[in-house]
Amino acid sequence: LGGSISRAIQQMSNATIIDEKALNDCLNEITRALLQSDVQFKLVRDMQTNIKKIVNLDDLAAGHNKRRIIQQAIFNELCKILDPGKSSFTPKKGKTSVVMFVGLQGSGKTTTCTKYAYYHQKKGWKPALVCADTFRAGAFDQLKQNATKAKIPFYGSYTESDPVKIAEEGVETFKKENCDLIIVDTSGRHKQEAALLEEMRQVSEATKPDLIIFVMDSSIGQAPFDQAQAFKQMVAVGAVIITKMDGHAKGGGALSAVAATKSPVIFIGTGEHMDEFEVFDVKPFVSRLLGMGDWSGFMDKIHEVVPMDQQPELLQKLSEGNFTLRIMYEQFQNLLKMGPIGQVFSMLPGFSAELMPKGHEKESQAKIKRYMTMMDSMTNEELDSSNPKLLNDSRMMRIARGAGRPIRDVMEMLEEYKRLAKVWSKMKGLKIPKKGEMSSL
Ligand code: GDP
Ligand code: MG
Repeated sequence: LGGSISRAIQQMSNATIIDEKALNDCLNEITRALLQSDVQFKLVRDMQTNIKKIVNLDDLAAGHNKRRIIQQAIFNELCKILDPGKSSFTPKKGKTSVVMFVGLQGSGKTTTCTKYAYYHQKKGWKPALVCADTFRAGAFDQLKQNATKAKIPFYGSYTESDPVKIAEEGVETFKKENCDLIIVDTSGRHKQEAALLEEMRQVSEATKPDLIIFVMDSSIGQAPFDQAQAFKQMVAVGAVIITKMDGHAKGGGALSAVAATKSPVIFIGTGEHMDEFEVFDVKPFVSRLLGMGDWSGFMDKIHEVVPMDQQPELLQKLSEGNFTLRIMYEQFQNLLKMGPIGQVFSMLPGFSAELMPKGHEKESQAKIKRYMTMMDSMTNEELDSSNPKLLNDSRMMRIARGAGRPIRDVMEMLEEYKRLAKVWSKMKGLKIPKKGEMSSL
């Protein structure tokens, strides 16, 4: 997709006369690319109309950077579609919330329930899982296995066939146990059949969830709008999670899901494992969708805010792709020292939403300082290695003792490192553009 969009914009900027026809040709080309990426036809058409309103032909003709203007307009329009204008209900730690998961069979509900529970557990919550899927044989075993692995309490039955009854009992049980996040996994069918939707409605009525999350497989092509709408019409969907973003999926369906449910995407699933789960962030997602080289805006920012003398070194390290703890340490130093580099990293998926959530700058700074204290207790070998296996239990214990922190903190810091290393690895082999070349990206 990224390729065809850049090509369309490229062609347009090569045209000697930028007239309405040239703009239309360009937009048609982009439309085709977006449709191929599973963005719903109506959304694409509306976007096209909006862009034509926004992009001023005179500006383009006057030799301003055309590619930049059009790309920015598309980017902004897609971001707007992904922003339903309201945030979802957010559970509060220590206060009981019931969260129900709905979606088609195979969309990733059971997997995502566990990821969601695990994500909160790591932050000190007391989550619990309820299996209200009595439709699929083996559903309870699957949830039980996942929950056991993550040490999360679970509830379910091999014999009871009424999902409403199980859901109700499970929620009651965990309320009594003072769990603060009670997660109800429901069944699915291959289509949004009446029986499934009715069962969901009943489970929802019985458990009175604070939040209903619609789970959608990103690889289902053009179907998501109708699917999401069918669910929304039956129960009060309040948020969306998109799964399997690690595969070939192009992710355009996310736009449809938001448009149909008028609810925000809150997380994405990026793999089968428990920790392959990311807080959703609109801008990096749209960059990825447009294939604007995830990194083009990022590079721009580097040139804008990183001091000139530090640029070559940082870019060199980026292109080598070996993310060591020492590099993380140096970037943290920059982050604390110069402030603005925070803007650079806020453009990287993973960095912004997790490490530096908006409005929590103070806490983020404290966290970064804590991480750095622990890294101060590391040996050179540990800092310069990009092999996470090097840090075995005894080394972690030594680091924790040295820094006067619990081992849990060292583990948390290493998780952060692994996540950043994954982001970083995508930049390996990156062609490093020189200043000046940037503006034409
Ligand atoms: P459910 O029927 O909606 O409960 O779906 P499951 O949770 O059982 O998931 C169906 C399949 O999708 C399983 O094989 C999961 O491992 C897989 N799956 C779920 N989420 C992801 C994801 O984010 N990435 C990948 N690659 N696979 C996933
Ligand atoms: Mg399931």
